[in-house]
Amino acid sequence: MTTRRYFLLGLGAVAAIGGGSLLLASRSHNRKLLGSQETPADESFEIQRSESEWRALLTEDQFAVLRKEGTERANSSPLLNEKREGTYHCAGCALPVYRSADKYDSKTGWPSFTRAIENAVGTKLDTSLFSTRTEVHCRRCGGHLGHIFDDGPRPSGNRHCINGLVLTFIAF
Ligand SMILES: [Zn+2]
Repeated sequence: MTTRRYFLLGLGAVAAIGGGSLLLASRSHNRKLLGSQETPADESFEIQRSESEWRALLTEDQFAVLRKEGTERANSSPLLNEKREGTYHCAGCALPVYRSADKYDSKTGWPSFTRAIENAVGTKLDTSLFSTRTEVHCRRCGGHLGHIFDDGPRPSGNRHCINGLVLTFIAF
């Protein structure tokens, strides 16, 4: 419910400020942050399933995050405390998307990484909340994973803020 309320507030604010210039400014910022990784809007994914197929495969909460771009509650993921070496896989299609070596404690309440595995994720501009964010999703099934912010540790400065619900950890 909270998400929806913010969503509506965000739309109102964008409209009030004058969406055009705001979106333009954000878009160039986004490009600087991510270089050429940004994926086109018409991106199609290798794994395609109907909504009912996804519902059958995923838990209700996973479906809400992966397929509806929901966000899990802060500090709710057991993976926050996962310290073992291993690989984090997309819960939608099992593609390895993050490595334990790139995980760090951002103290935000969501599992955080400085980068994704090469060629494992795609990004798009997300203007659904009050501020413009960079959405990150699985390259293979399009499942929503989280967002990328530019307040991460050096040298990349990136913080991939990921929902633990949609990651499956496999230890080495
Ligand atoms: Zn996937």
